[in-house]
Amino acid sequence: MSNQNPVFIPGPTNIPDRLLRAMQVQTIDHRAPDFVQAFAPVLEGLKQVFRSTTGQIVTFPSSGTGGWEAAISNTLSPGDKVLVARHGVFSHRWIDLCQRHGLDVQVIDCPWGSGAPAERFQSILADDRNHDIRAVLVTHNETATGVRSDILSVRSAMDASAHPALLMVDCVSSLASMPFEFDGWGVDIAVSGSQKGFMLAAGMAILCLSPKALAAMDGARLPRTYFDFRDMLDANASGGFPYTPPLQLICGLQESLSILFDEGLDNVYARHFRLAEGVRRAVGAWGLSLVAQSPDLYSDTVSAVYVPDGFDSNVLTNHAYDTYGVSFGIGLGQLNGKAFRIGHLGSLTDVMVLSGLATIEMAMADLNYPIQLGSGVAAAQEYFRANGTNRSRAA
Ligand code: PLP
Repeated sequence: MSNQNPVFIPGPTNIPDRLLRAMQVQTIDHRAPDFVQAFAPVLEGLKQVFRSTTGQIVTFPSSGTGGWEAAISNTLSPGDKVLVARHGVFSHRWIDLCQRHGLDVQVIDCPWGSGAPAERFQSILADDRNHDIRAVLVTHNETATGVRSDILSVRSAMDASAHPALLMVDCVSSLASMPFEFDGWGVDIAVSGSQKGFMLAAGMAILCLSPKALAAMDGARLPRTYFDFRDMLDANASGGFPYTPPLQLICGLQESLSILFDEGLDNVYARHFRLAEGVRRAVGAWGLSLVAQSPDLYSDTVSAVYVPDGFDSNVLTNHAYDTYGVSFGIGLGQLNGKAFRIGHLGSLTDVMVLSGLATIEMAMADLNYPIQLGSGVAAAQEYFRANGTNRSRAA
């Protein structure tokens, strides 16, 4: 299972050599002082990535899905009402998780390709005079559709009716790649993971909690043990873990933070925008359409692209893999067969993105798509030549 080519799936991302090396460490005793010394700065660094001064970080050995579970089970009780929009596979899965935990989930079904509907939230919250809704859940970046939602407008919708619900945000595929403002957007719980913007292996859920979320912990009656914030926060306060920590991932995370801070978060965001824009230029030159309905919704980490009528996107992604050894994201849920996804996040340069565009173009040409071979690459090249810094680098 070894591949020389980068992957263009929207996470897990390519892991830079520097991080592979950082994760290759021999066991150290997680109760020894050197673990304590290594872990505290990681928590501090993560706060900076979330752009929070007041938040508390908790991490769990888990993928992002465990982070969703931790968010609700630590703050809510059976039968509590939550408000959430479904506009892609990941928002759907969080809804499903809430339902299976016995929450009363008010779902707003939106077209896939649209963002979180702040105006509809606003009218529902204004009508909720008894404040039965305990939390509003938003997927910042719907990885299935390549849509970024405007979290600040959701916060404003909540504030307009002075609604006290918690604002929970999934930033699994946006944190450390696109701007995220935990404090500035008034987020109460943000859920992320190690395998996307942090460029690591999967295996750590990474959350940031507001003081209001922490205050909700004691009254919350959903069962939780492994994901109990209180156990984690208590142990972390003395530099430890309530159970065996994923030491190698934590070492990787320490190095990942150095890489992100060396580049500078604003430069990381600018690089992701540039890479994404190059991809979007290519999609336009092919004459294809993005699933995201309008430019304000475009994600800078993943682009979901409709294939023309009569074509099957699974045949395309399989062909790209079988013939050229390059992975692209398949269409998920109702987009299966209808769209493919280009992941452009993490440790990527302009040149790497061009290789992905060239590959999917070859695959489309092989399958007689009505595209001009080279047109997408040329459009991205023009964009990168005009807008690149030439210093874009993979870690
Ligand atoms: N949320 C979003 C937006 C995702 O993209 C993913 C995974 O791709 C998840 C949640 C689930 O995370 P995980 O697969 O790490 O459990």
